[in-house]
Amino acid sequence: MSGCLFCGIVEGTVPAKVVFQDEQALAFEDINPQSPVHVLIIPKRHVTSLQEVEAADQALLGHLVLTCNRVAAQKGLSSGYRLTVNTGRDGGQTVAHLHFHVLGGRRMTWPPG
Ligand code: 5GP
Ligand code: ZN
Repeated sequence: MSGCLFCGIVEGTVPAKVVFQDEQALAFEDINPQSPVHVLIIPKRHVTSLQEVEAADQALLGHLVLTCNRVAAQKGLSSGYRLTVNTGRDGGQTVAHLHFHVLGGRRMTWPPG
């Protein structure tokens, strides 16, 4: 989608450190990491947020979660990681293209801010 930052990363017009990709998904390093490992996993097709997904996206969502697990393993996060999907304004979403945060490499705390 034109004007979307993460679509720009998919298209290659915005630079990013890509760690994994396949036909449907792209994984790249977060520009402002909140933990030693902080990777974003996105669908290559523009989807605005988790609130916008439909039944037809079920397989894509499953694929994205499996991709998160794969990236976590690739990054050596054998003792666990946090998967976060900030959704909408109250969820703290700042980029309007669905993304999963894989955070790891340190012990996470709860509750989040
Ligand atoms: P949100 O707040 O929407 O859940 O997460 C957006 C994430 O995108 C933030 O963690 C932020 O650091 C990251 N981000 C914002 N702009 C860029 C960028 O241009 N490149 C990369 N790699 N990450 C970005
Ligand atoms: Zn987009």
